[in-house]
Amino acid sequence: MEDVLRKDIKYVKGIGPIKAEILNLELGIFTVGDLLSKYPFRYVDKTEITPIRDIKNNDLVQIKGSIISKQLIKGKKQKRLTATLRDASGFVELVWFKGIAYIEKYIELNKEYIVYGKASMYKGIANIAHPEMEAADQNQQKAKNTYEPIYSSTEKLNKIGFDSKARRKVIESILEKLGERYFPETLPHYLTDKLKLISRYQAIRNIHFPENENALTKAQSRIKFEEIFYFQLRLLFNKSERQLKYKGHNFTKVGDSFNKFYKEKLPFTLTGAQKRVIKEIRADLGSARQMNRLLQGDVGSGKTIVAILTTLLAIDNGYQTVLMAPTEILAQQHYNSIQKSLEGLGIRTAFLSGSVKGKVRNQILRLLKSNDLQLLIGTHAVFEDPVQFSNLGLAIIDEQHRFGVMQRAKLWKKGNQHPPHVLVMTATPIPRTLSMTLYGDLDVSIIDELPPGRKEIQTLHKTDKHRPQVIHFMHDQILKGRQIYIVYPLIEESAKLDLANLQEGYDNLRQHFPPEEFQISVVHGRMKPKDKEYEMQRFASGKTQIMVATTVIEVGVNVPNATVMIIENTERFGLSQLHQLRGRVGRGGEQSYCILMTGYKLSQEARFRIKTMTDTNDGFKIAEADLELRGPGDIEGTRQSGGIDFNLFSIGEDQNVLFSARKIAQTILNKDPYLNDSNNTVLKEKIEKLNQGTINLGRIS
Ligand code: ADP
Ligand code: MG
Repeated sequence: MEDVLRKDIKYVKGIGPIKAEILNLELGIFTVGDLLSKYPFRYVDKTEITPIRDIKNNDLVQIKGSIISKQLIKGKKQKRLTATLRDASGFVELVWFKGIAYIEKYIELNKEYIVYGKASMYKGIANIAHPEMEAADQNQQKAKNTYEPIYSSTEKLNKIGFDSKARRKVIESILEKLGERYFPETLPHYLTDKLKLISRYQAIRNIHFPENENALTKAQSRIKFEEIFYFQLRLLFNKSERQLKYKGHNFTKVGDSFNKFYKEKLPFTLTGAQKRVIKEIRADLGSARQMNRLLQGDVGSGKTIVAILTTLLAIDNGYQTVLMAPTEILAQQHYNSIQKSLEGLGIRTAFLSGSVKGKVRNQILRLLKSNDLQLLIGTHAVFEDPVQFSNLGLAIIDEQHRFGVMQRAKLWKKGNQHPPHVLVMTATPIPRTLSMTLYGDLDVSIIDELPPGRKEIQTLHKTDKHRPQVIHFMHDQILKGRQIYIVYPLIEESAKLDLANLQEGYDNLRQHFPPEEFQISVVHGRMKPKDKEYEMQRFASGKTQIMVATTVIEVGVNVPNATVMIIENTERFGLSQLHQLRGRVGRGGEQSYCILMTGYKLSQEARFRIKTMTDTNDGFKIAEADLELRGPGDIEGTRQSGGIDFNLFSIGEDQNVLFSARKIAQTILNKDPYLNDSNNTVLKEKIEKLNQGTINLGRIS
């Protein structure tokens, strides 16, 4: 029965081996089921006809009228065919540059046509280039579906005659032959009943050939729900299975180092949000289940102290901790500042990165193995194979968006009796919708409160003509004892050009800030780590007033005395990157500024990004804007996390569906964690298939 859906499309009438090959290659369509799972990307409402008089520029319109003239025009370079179509309210010009011979024969004078296309207004007259046309009488005959599906096509497919229309015919005839039994229900009845969802069979028919808007909406709701529901159910099922199967280290006590640090060494009062998060973490650590927690907190919200306190809990319970940061600079900075914080507690700490070699490295590896090191801080190098722990109880990862799923899996194996507790920290605020989908198997804690006394960073947009003003402002700030970052874009392909830009910027700067009076640090990606580190250190210790850099300073660098962030060629940065950069200032008590420099000409999108930045400091709002702008596929981290491709569901648009699907999935699992109830058999079977990777979400097979 199911075999029909698995049938190779080359055997389908109307397709054949040649078209099949192109469908395989260009659209990934191999089977009949695949063909049915690629839904139309839009529909033409065949009942709606726009009077020509009402057409506006750039409207997608369907009009009905008679051809009153046609004309072949031989221009210097190109021939074109034009025709005038009239209805009771006015005229439109239709124009073709390709396929002229065929169309000229096809359109007849004084005959009525239904014409569909995008109109552009020129001197008060609507023009439609390459419209879709159909004789009006033909259209009426088969008008049983008022909504006509339009499928995305490719040039090659159009060329060999398998355009949207041909595909529609094939799908129509397939669906005519296949009755309900070919599309068994994939959701339990109690769910479809409760949520008033139409059956799977109806949904598939109606997504291709809806009779009206209502039918289409119902089909879309059903399919969207199913896609995201199974996605969530699988995440949550696997998570709970993991928790039931694997125990975690149980950190039962709050010991001496935690207490001593908390009472004597805490440099400030914790914010309410920090306290709450630490409580959440403590509950996890003492639950005898493995913790997998994502800590989200905007830049400067104070995640490091949470990391330190969590580390102390592990150490007090006799376990080792590893803290990983994505860049050498950041790892080094964590090492320096954490070591200082922990002074006097007698905690043995070491730093490891690719640049730690030879004897020092071997010594560290030995001490780790013999349990003579309690805290290891470093770059990705800490997770390499030769690095073996004696009893790793906790792994903290800073800046998750650069930490792939594979690495997470590798890390789990570093534990011996149980996998270590994992705390992932990110300053890249991820919209809740996205984190639920990407990291849906992690628990999430959020620090949504900045330490007291912070002044909101002022963000300004300036162009080249304001440069003297900006220079003046810089002088002013330096005079007050503050420090300044100037950041240049660096994109791999144009790395050379970008370095030249940076050099030029530096030379210009030197004219206003001569070496006799001012110290300027330069840091860029092509420098040796040692030199970078040296310059960073000079800036961090206040020896230099200005840091000119490419985006290497993006992540996590903490110099509280720096109050000005100037970003050059702002238009070349993405929103989340801009927000990260801005977060390098505003870390002390002084008023801080972020100045976004651009040229005069800006794309609409660049304007939107800059406006978002000047409008808000709220990382979550910025993340939402970023999601809107780029879609989830481009948000950092989504690629490597893999496997979020939905046919219909959209993270940006269907938030409500997501929230409700997740809630329902959770409720089902709370009652029936193994999905053993006979009503849930259908769920269990699908989860198993998804886990085996034998089917994709949303695939009809
Ligand atoms: P991030 O979340 O970006 O990692 P950090 O942990 O680097 O933030 O903290 C930013 C700055 O705020 C640091 O200088 C830190 O010492 C300070 N800080 C953190 N928590 C508090 C607090 N509760 N009160 C005052 N200052 C704090
Ligand atoms: Mg940090």
